[in-house]
Amino acid sequence: SGWADKIHGLTIPADGPHQVQTLHEPIGVVGQIIPWNFPLIILAWKLGPALACGNTIVVKPAEQTPLSTLYLANLFLEAGLPPGVFNVVPGFGPTAGAALASHMDVDKIAFTGSTATGRAITEMSAKSNLKPTLLELGGKSPFIVCEDADVDMAVEHANLAVFFHQGQCCAAGSRTFVHESIYDEFVEKAKARAQKIIVGDSFKSGVQQGPQIDAKQFEKTLGYIKLGIDCGATLETGGDRFGNRGYYIQPTVFSNVEDDMSIATDEIFGPVQCIIKFKDLNEVIGRANDTPYGLVAGVFTKNMDTANTLSLALRAGTVWVNCYNVIDITIPFGGYKMSGHGREKGIYSLSNYLQVKAVVTPLNNPAWL
Ligand code: ADP
Repeated sequence: SGWADKIHGLTIPADGPHQVQTLHEPIGVVGQIIPWNFPLIILAWKLGPALACGNTIVVKPAEQTPLSTLYLANLFLEAGLPPGVFNVVPGFGPTAGAALASHMDVDKIAFTGSTATGRAITEMSAKSNLKPTLLELGGKSPFIVCEDADVDMAVEHANLAVFFHQGQCCAAGSRTFVHESIYDEFVEKAKARAQKIIVGDSFKSGVQQGPQIDAKQFEKTLGYIKLGIDCGATLETGGDRFGNRGYYIQPTVFSNVEDDMSIATDEIFGPVQCIIKFKDLNEVIGRANDTPYGLVAGVFTKNMDTANTLSLALRAGTVWVNCYNVIDITIPFGGYKMSGHGREKGIYSLSNYLQVKAVVTPLNNPAWL
């Protein structure tokens, strides 16, 4: 986006006979640890600003999905990027990833992945050279449908918010709060909408939901579905594997979900919609914020005051009003609380990859003071 020749410091009018400038310098060697759910785009969000700021990069792609990163490295070679600027170290998290996070010559770690691994990386940074971190972690994001919302539109967006990409999104709107006055209608429509999702081989045209990434995620999601049933949520549709081979899961909708059920507190990362009832705005603000996460939120209302109140009150890095998953490269993305820190994309991403140096020089000619 042309940032590389537009990054500059400031001239600061400090008190006293000194000239003060800031230089915006590269941090140095940046380690980037990438997850498997969006292996190329999440890498792109990290490598663009890091390169524009003049850093070199060592990428550790997820062990499930190293090929697109290696292919990109090949393209960089072909394009003439100097050797050593973009480096790839494929491998597993606890070995290759940990080596990067603990390395004394790596000056920064940018990581997207689970909150547990983000914590481990922070510990490794603390125990090695205190390298700063950019962390984009998990979420359990609220999707709030107010009593005056356009119900059909909200049903459609709520469906995409949680079922997109098999539910394997940190930004999934995985707690669907619906006002009691429209709750029954919403649940019926959400169930019907989920039943329309076409599940199957994602390489076939028309298919909307493919398999989960691997056996671990497949078992984890089925485990949560069982927990939902066992703790008394109402299973509206789905609830089991789809077919009898592969890691396919039926699009699953639960209603009558309570805030303290594990399906409402934990990040499932699968195609499971949890619909929760609320009565008034102040109550839903408290409940929506009552989570260690704070990545994104969705708000559906026709009332401007309600939209503004919720946008200000929700503790999340993005609030989508009457829309969801609008992920333009210019819009900053990142979390509050245990969803991480730092913002990626657009102008905000640059500060992750720059050092600010203040250069102070005396002004010695008294005639000008
Ligand atoms: P998931 O549980 O969804 O696989 P992770 O957060 O564990 O998510 O993985 C995201 C990225 O973090 C992957 O590239 C993975 O290899 C890496 N990773 C996992 N564990 C560690 C670790 N202990 N140290 C550094 N990187 C790790």
